[in-house]
Amino acid sequence: MPVSSAQARPAPQRRSTPRESHRDEDLTNKALEIDRRLCRSFDCPIAYFHSLDPVSELVSSLLSHRTRNADSGRAFKALRARWPSWEQVAEADPAEIEETIRGVTWPELKAPRIRAVLHAILERQGSLSLDLLAEMEVDEARHWLETIPGIGPKTSAAVLSFSNLRMPALPVDSHHHRVAQRTGLIGQRVDVGPSHDILRAQLPDDWSAQKLYDNHEVLMLHGQHVCHYRNPTCGDCVLLDLCPTGQARTAAKG
Ligand code: SF4
Repeated sequence: MPVSSAQARPAPQRRSTPRESHRDEDLTNKALEIDRRLCRSFDCPIAYFHSLDPVSELVSSLLSHRTRNADSGRAFKALRARWPSWEQVAEADPAEIEETIRGVTWPELKAPRIRAVLHAILERQGSLSLDLLAEMEVDEARHWLETIPGIGPKTSAAVLSFSNLRMPALPVDSHHHRVAQRTGLIGQRVDVGPSHDILRAQLPDDWSAQKLYDNHEVLMLHGQHVCHYRNPTCGDCVLLDLCPTGQARTAAKG
């Protein structure tokens, strides 16, 4: 495969201050209170579930989209067992990759996407390494990743937060997003992608990687265990007095 040299790194184009453009004092106070209550419920700090290098975390994240953790974990292990290096995956037949990851949703889309993303890193870096991200600010590193087709805000934040880079980024998954919408931290029309900057802006700039990871994890866990997609158990929810959706639901039930 033709590989251009490492100087192909795109010029850093820092995002325009999402923290400032989305800052709202009332929402910040609410976000902090939600974080405080949920951290008490779920016993923060939460242990990191991965300690993968950033390229491995990137592949893991691409596999996990709309897929149960157990299924994406199995697919990740199957990839590693079949091709010991990511360079080999980049050169593999997409049909074989698809066959290997068939337990995830949309393997026919994810196989070529994973291969294309690995190729894009090779073309920019000259090797399959994302160690350069450790030298960047979070916004710059997210932008660098998101200029690769197939990498969006959730994946870029997951790579920075969940990998052994342990950078202070805030991923937002579907559970986290649902709780944020129902509690009014974001509007009903705000999609998952744009919610990243809004929700990050509500939390202190100087929060550590662990604090931001905890915030994501507790909102996700709350969505999984209490604020279910169907039939949230609002009567048992520690956020009920902060949550317009829960108050409307409980009022309607009398
Ligand atoms: S009160 Fe209900 S809708 Fe609101 S966060 Fe709790 S479970 Fe979700």
